[in-house]
Amino acid sequence: MTPPKIYGLIGYPLKHSFSPAMHNAAFKALNIDAEYRLFELKIEELRRFFKSLTAKNICGFNVTIPYKEGIKVYLNEITEEASLIGAVNTVKIEGDKKIGYNTDSEGFLRHLMDVYKSGFYNKTAFLIGAGGAAKAVAYSLAKMRVGSIIIYDKLTQRARALSKKINDNFKSCGSRAVDSMDELLKVNPDLLVNATPVGMEEADPLLIDPDKLTPRTFVYDLIYNPAQTKLLRLARDKGCGFSNGLGMLLYQGMLSFEKWTGKNAPQEVMRRALEEKLKNAKNNN
Ligand code: NAP
Repeated sequence: MTPPKIYGLIGYPLKHSFSPAMHNAAFKALNIDAEYRLFELKIEELRRFFKSLTAKNICGFNVTIPYKEGIKVYLNEITEEASLIGAVNTVKIEGDKKIGYNTDSEGFLRHLMDVYKSGFYNKTAFLIGAGGAAKAVAYSLAKMRVGSIIIYDKLTQRARALSKKINDNFKSCGSRAVDSMDELLKVNPDLLVNATPVGMEEADPLLIDPDKLTPRTFVYDLIYNPAQTKLLRLARDKGCGFSNGLGMLLYQGMLSFEKWTGKNAPQEVMRRALEEKLKNAKNNN
């Protein structure tokens, strides 16, 4: 009897991930003999993990904090998109070959188009964070021809590097880094994206001064647990359009699933699994 194919998520630390519920529900719905597991790995355990892929029948995996950028040294190939973004969140194993993809960017783009149908062509976006997820978001925004992307990160250097990359690769989009959130009011953007983990804990501070948000701004928080962060509650109170990142999680997961299995991902099954998880999540409010 052939053993089940193993997929999973690598990262450290791995707290309450929603991905196993979403992928295992999809495998079950399509009668695929496979299982999605969590692999919580310290950096010194990565090499051994890669050596054990065949023995464990691991056919693919997702990558999360803190390995999205560093994982590429273990891979044989990465797509042009993942290379341009500078982050890999999906790995597919094909024989001896390990191929890296980024499905966060397309996942974000698809969900943003669901929740804001007219899109942000030639408009202004303010991006908080310049880490792995923010890179995918910035790439997507530039690809959808947003006019300008203003980037703020705790580390201004990181924001500057991301801005430069966008300016070097996308002629239709101007990007600049700012060294303070105070710029938000001056910019009064059409879209505000939180791509930092700030807001995952109830004790986290509000990322922006409430007076600096006006109803013209659509607020997208990549965080999905809690479903409504302080930032999203502020957006709601200010009369802004807003969304959390559950839809992005769904789409990036569907895209990973399709790369691994070659089959259409069962969207409703996966969505229901995520919603169920969120309902039972401790953080939810
Ligand atoms: P990351 O690589 O750690 O990047 C976060 C960036 O934000 C870092 O540069 C961090 O700086 C910076 N930062 C932290 N606090 C800040 C603050 N108060 N103001 C400005 N910048 C700040 O994390 P990531 O992988 O990009 O993930 C970010 C968030 O997106 C997480 O909550 C993650 O769960 C979520 N996410 C959601 C999806 C989805 O499908 N919905 C997908 C990917 C990620 P330091 O490193 O110096 O702290």
